[in-house]
Amino acid sequence: MAEPIVVIGANTAGDSAVTTLRREGYRGPLVLVGDEPQPPYQRPPLSKEYLRGTRDLEAIRYHDLAHYDEHEVEMRLGVRATRLDTAQRRVHLDDGSELGYQQLLLATGGRNRRPPIPGIGLEGVHDLRTVADADAIRAAALTGRRAVVVGLGLVGSEVASTLRQMGLEVTAVEPQPTPLAALGDDIGRVVAELHREHGVELLLGDAVAAFEGQERLSAVRTRGGRRLPADLAVVGLGIEPAVELARGTTIEVDDGIVVDERCRTHAPGVYAAGDVASHHHPRLGRRVRVEHWQHAGLQAATAARNMLGAGEDYDEPHWFWTDQYDLTIQSVGTPVTGGREVRRGSVEERAVSWFHLDGARLVAAVGMGRPRDIALAGRLIAAGVEVDPAHLADPTVRLRDLLPRP
Ligand SMILES: Cc1cc2nc3c(=O)[nH]c(=O)nc-3n(C[C@H](O)[C@H](O)[C@H](O)COP(=O)(O)OP(=O)(O)OC[C@H]3O[C@@H](n4cnc5c(N)ncnc54)[C@H](O)[C@@H]3O)c2cc1C
Repeated sequence: MAEPIVVIGANTAGDSAVTTLRREGYRGPLVLVGDEPQPPYQRPPLSKEYLRGTRDLEAIRYHDLAHYDEHEVEMRLGVRATRLDTAQRRVHLDDGSELGYQQLLLATGGRNRRPPIPGIGLEGVHDLRTVADADAIRAAALTGRRAVVVGLGLVGSEVASTLRQMGLEVTAVEPQPTPLAALGDDIGRVVAELHREHGVELLLGDAVAAFEGQERLSAVRTRGGRRLPADLAVVGLGIEPAVELARGTTIEVDDGIVVDERCRTHAPGVYAAGDVASHHHPRLGRRVRVEHWQHAGLQAATAARNMLGAGEDYDEPHWFWTDQYDLTIQSVGTPVTGGREVRRGSVEERAVSWFHLDGARLVAAVGMGRPRDIALAGRLIAAGVEVDPAHLADPTVRLRDLLPRP
């Protein structure tokens, strides 16, 4: 019997790959291996509706087990892949079994950074990646009163807003001068204002020195000298790509598993996609690793089609969103250094988009309160057309009219 296509990592990229393989007509054996106990689910709600308790696990799952059964996807859940032999095309699992593969997708994603801060191992100090993490934070938030959020990147800032919406007293500690520093000063200032309007105390330009307590967390001490009594803390300091399987093989690792524009690693028949993949992006002319939900699904779908011989380049302008209280911020594309920035709308009204140009070409846009701008910016970026910056800045000019005529 033919060897299966094996997908390692059962979340957004893994689910997208197996779904695409079947949709595109692959009828051969197909195995999805994942070390979490449940079938793939969406992570974005974990810091939003799921943590608040307004959506449950069933509502955020991509499919139930019967669906995978129906599509003849063999699910190996709660099982970890421990070693990869690219010469023999075999993968070893921690239940003692081995799988041969004809083609393999590494969709192992990332795991949270846990810097060696004193006391980080205390009970009550959480981080958030999985549904189990979200359950633990929710349980702590339902009984606790005071929370400290460490790091105000996308996930940390969402967690701070959600815990506040759940009625906790929240203090957030962030070394940068604003939250969401990667999205620019203006967005950072608006998000800082939002947190303060909702009663979150922000300690910006500060960092955690230690988590204190006997076995259980009782306080968080900052380098700036504050001691914050706390019932729970949530650490949101970014992720590291889960690259272990590639180590010791011919697959190159450099801030993620290195793949070309067709999602191929250096080993024959082995692909990678999603948070774990550092991919050559034809439009950018360089490699980039992206930690966004839509990207994980789209890139894995491209990898799946390429396994079936499509020969497709993956060149999507990367898009993501984040919800901060009632404000949705979106971004698409990648700015270039030395590029020009044009603004449309009003920061004060929190309805504004910033467009980033490389010469006359739009390469990125970020904004809040003007979702159609970002959707159309994505289409303009993908079309690669030249645009007049004055048109981008003028809200009376419809972005749709700047698109090439079909
Ligand atoms: C709380 C939270 C909120 C987010 N919100 C947003 C948002 O608002 N917008 C946005 O665009 N993105 C958001 N993201 C990011 C988005 O969820 C990720 O980009 C996406 O989950 C990446 O999918 P993936 O399949 O590549 O990797 P992952 O989701 O990391 O999945 C990889 C899976 O592989 C498993 N695995 C790893 N190694 C092995 C192994 N050796 N054997 C077996 N299994 C293994 C892991 O346990 C995991 O289940 C959020 C992420 C989090 C955590």
